[in-house]
Amino acid sequence: MDGRQNTETRFQGLAVSPGSAAGRVCLFRQAVHEDIPEYRVSGEAKEQERERLRDAMTKVAERLESLKQTVRDRLGPAEAEIFSVQRMILEDPALADQFMAAIDEGRNAEIAVQRTLETYERRLLELESAYHSERAGDIGELKRRLLGELCETTSAFICASEPYCQRGRHRVVVTEELTPALALELDAEDVLGLVTDRGGVTSHAAILARALGIPAVSGIPHVHDLVACGTEVLVNGDTGEVVIWPSAATVERFQAKAPAVPRGPVPPVEALAVMANISLAEEADIARRHLAEGVGLYRTEMEFFAAARLLDEDEQADRYRHVLRAMDGLPATFRLLDLGGDKPSPLFDFPDEENPSLGLRGLRYLLTRPHLLATQARALARASQDGPVRVMYPMVTSLAQFRRARALFDEATAGMAAGRIEHGPMFEVPSAVLEAPALLAEADFASIGSNDLLQYLFVVDRNNEHVADDYCPDQPVFWQVLRDLVRAAAEAGRPLAICGEMAADPQYLGRLIDIGIETVSVSVRLIPGVRRAVGNSNQGRDTS
Ligand code: PEP
Ligand code: MG
Repeated sequence: MDGRQNTETRFQGLAVSPGSAAGRVCLFRQAVHEDIPEYRVSGEAKEQERERLRDAMTKVAERLESLKQTVRDRLGPAEAEIFSVQRMILEDPALADQFMAAIDEGRNAEIAVQRTLETYERRLLELESAYHSERAGDIGELKRRLLGELCETTSAFICASEPYCQRGRHRVVVTEELTPALALELDAEDVLGLVTDRGGVTSHAAILARALGIPAVSGIPHVHDLVACGTEVLVNGDTGEVVIWPSAATVERFQAKAPAVPRGPVPPVEALAVMANISLAEEADIARRHLAEGVGLYRTEMEFFAAARLLDEDEQADRYRHVLRAMDGLPATFRLLDLGGDKPSPLFDFPDEENPSLGLRGLRYLLTRPHLLATQARALARASQDGPVRVMYPMVTSLAQFRRARALFDEATAGMAAGRIEHGPMFEVPSAVLEAPALLAEADFASIGSNDLLQYLFVVDRNNEHVADDYCPDQPVFWQVLRDLVRAAAEAGRPLAICGEMAADPQYLGRLIDIGIETVSVSVRLIPGVRRAVGNSNQGRDTS
């Protein structure tokens, strides 16, 4: 304590990574390159500037590659792809052309970098979408890296109280924005918690925090100006609450509620099968290490985003085989490409739409691009010789639509040598829920995509922090819908899982089990916490 009168102060932010932490603040400020040299260059000096810039770009590319390797080893392939995005931007020839054009106009390398990238950043931020602000974040980080190289600044971050600095270890890190680079610099595995001014639930930083199992809260404006290093703080990554200078009574209540989050594998529990949600094939190996009882959702579109290009039939089949071999006969659920809406991608052709969430997306999009579905179907059929395949159809809106897509799948794979292939819809759209008995009668299995189901049932954007309070599964109507689905699946005798984020939320697990859910599918690293929570929980059960 510093002798000041410190009164307990509460803030409500956005819960971006579950769990809770109590500790002292480690305040980090991003190094702002305020004293960027600015001078005019002409004649031969221009070539020297170009050389300096090329050199900096090479070093940054190497650094990004080594960060990618580190993250791949420590966290997994999906998280490592964050650095591929920055590298792709860096290696875009159009960007180098613009840098060089600025030097041709007589600017020095630092100013060429700063002006060019800030223009991009500004344009992206003007688009005011979560997706574009994340890309702006990538560009901002790339700019800092390049300026760091050019200005020879060793670290992109400065701790606000160097002499006592623990670089986040055993501390709650408070910063304006958690960038992936900061997460790594902090030796993040020993960070207790994170609190940031900015960053949405789907930001890269939030994904990293969740992957590392670090409780995190964002969206508390100016928090980094409000606290000093050493401030006592409580962070609740489940509710978004942050308390600074908590009273003894608050600490006691907080500790009584906070369960320890297990990091290593926890053996399967009887009450609930826990499968894995994966984005890249290699994650199936990590899922196996966590004793996942199958893959309940493989978001296959992520492979295309990660590779930053379309994957042909052979490349897809290789990835799918990898998952099947890792699962060794356990269920493996491959979701057909789920594109559009909040997953736009320049790799695929989309029309300009006023409202992409209600536009060409999911299965509706695939039916307009049958060649995509056919290629994926053939890749899956080939892979199925290595193990049983479950094909999951995203954003199904009706039985007729499910039938059309299945017919295309069968047509594309007719006559191929294949193993066992099952087909099932995702329940993410209210109209499909209303048709559940008919859909389940024709399907082999199904899964509830609660993230989108909640969004479309209550007309509430899952990515919009302004309506985050309304985006809540704890509503009687929602549970009624879940019960109806469980009953329909039981009557049809079909396995039903739930694979949205709520399936990993300890506050809902007991209730899910009580309404008859027997299988959940959750992010790989949340598997131990889910099993531990199920093992511990006998309370809050829904017996209605
Ligand atoms: C869902 O909607 O619940 C789901 C699991 O799919 P995604 O989050 O990929 O939209
Ligand atoms: Mg969905």
